[in-house]
Amino acid sequence: MKGTRAVQFSPDGSFIYNANPGRVIFGNGTIAQLPEEIARLGLKRVLTLSTPAQAGDAAAIAAMLGHRSAALFSGAAMHTPAEVTEQAMALVAAEKIDGLLAIGGGSTIGLGKAIAWRTDLPQVVLPTTYAGSEMTPILGETAGGTKTTRSDPRILPEVVLYDVDLTMSLPAAMSGTSGINAMAHAIEALYARDRNPVISLMALEGIAALNRALPAIADDPGDCAARSAALYGAWLCGGCLGAVGMALHHKLCHVLGGSFDLPHAETHTVMLPHALAYNMVAVPDVVAALGPVLGPDPAQAIYDLAGRIGAARALGALGMAETGIDEAADRALANPYWNPRPLDRASIRDLIACAWAGEPPRAD
Ligand code: NAD
Repeated sequence: MKGTRAVQFSPDGSFIYNANPGRVIFGNGTIAQLPEEIARLGLKRVLTLSTPAQAGDAAAIAAMLGHRSAALFSGAAMHTPAEVTEQAMALVAAEKIDGLLAIGGGSTIGLGKAIAWRTDLPQVVLPTTYAGSEMTPILGETAGGTKTTRSDPRILPEVVLYDVDLTMSLPAAMSGTSGINAMAHAIEALYARDRNPVISLMALEGIAALNRALPAIADDPGDCAARSAALYGAWLCGGCLGAVGMALHHKLCHVLGGSFDLPHAETHTVMLPHALAYNMVAVPDVVAALGPVLGPDPAQAIYDLAGRIGAARALGALGMAETGIDEAADRALANPYWNPRPLDRASIRDLIACAWAGEPPRAD
């Protein structure tokens, strides 16, 4: 029967849905359940991971584990450099580690995943940003200046403990861009080649939660209800990223982050309105489904949201030179990948130039 589903899944309505296993605990103060979760997994020698900036918080949380805490490693860095992983691996061997506790955003979670991929050690994750890596079996690693991405069931964390209290310290600016980074996963899930009804429901709910929460957090970073809604939305959007394939937007951000060293969440925030605007003509059902959440022009709505929360809206403002536009277009088209609308160089170059200048997105 036509019209019963908001998003069209295939001409005949068929789809495949793969659920990712994983235990999720969500709320305020859920960190109190951490010792119980570590014991439930039978872990006796846990390695706690963080960035240098979050080393203090990580040490305090590791202390909650008592004799089950074996070591701390606070060298996690953006894009999971292989040399950092090797340092942590040496500690895993020396301390006979039997489980991993990652406290932080995508960088720290990426390190835990890199170790888990090599060792199959169980992972418990306490996310402190909205990037969503904790919900995916995907690992991006950098070695010799090249970032490679792989997907493997060993990479997916076993337990994710979302504690809203841990996100209260995320600075307002980072909260906004991290939240739009999460929305990007859900937007592309709605038009993914392998989209399905469960993930599309999660995507719409996640986008709606973040769209409401991010302006409130920008106005008051201490707004607990908005923080809770944002983390809830981030969880749903992370689940979208873990379940279906992404397209043009994620490809462009991968290229811009990897080749021009642009910051992750900020780059997603600049690019999302433009990538969505480009694809909208090919997915009218997705535009219609987003209507009740973002209004009739979802690309413009996200551009306006970025402005409302005070985020940079131009690649130029993130430090990219204008001379990089052509190289970015070439790299974005170097390897073919699926996108709902066919890609041609002139259009992609225009899109990147528009994003570089910070102009409003152009849908045609
Ligand atoms: P991040 O983890 O690099 O964190 C940015 C900075 O914020 C760090 O210094 C961190 O210590 C600090 N920080 C984090 N939470 C904080 C808090 N609550 N209070 C104060 N400071 C805090 O940033 P991110 O955007 O979460 O992650 C980006 C990385 O994650 C990229 O490398 C990206 O490729 C990766 N990622 C991977 C996936 C995946 O599925 N594999 C998904 C999303 C992102």
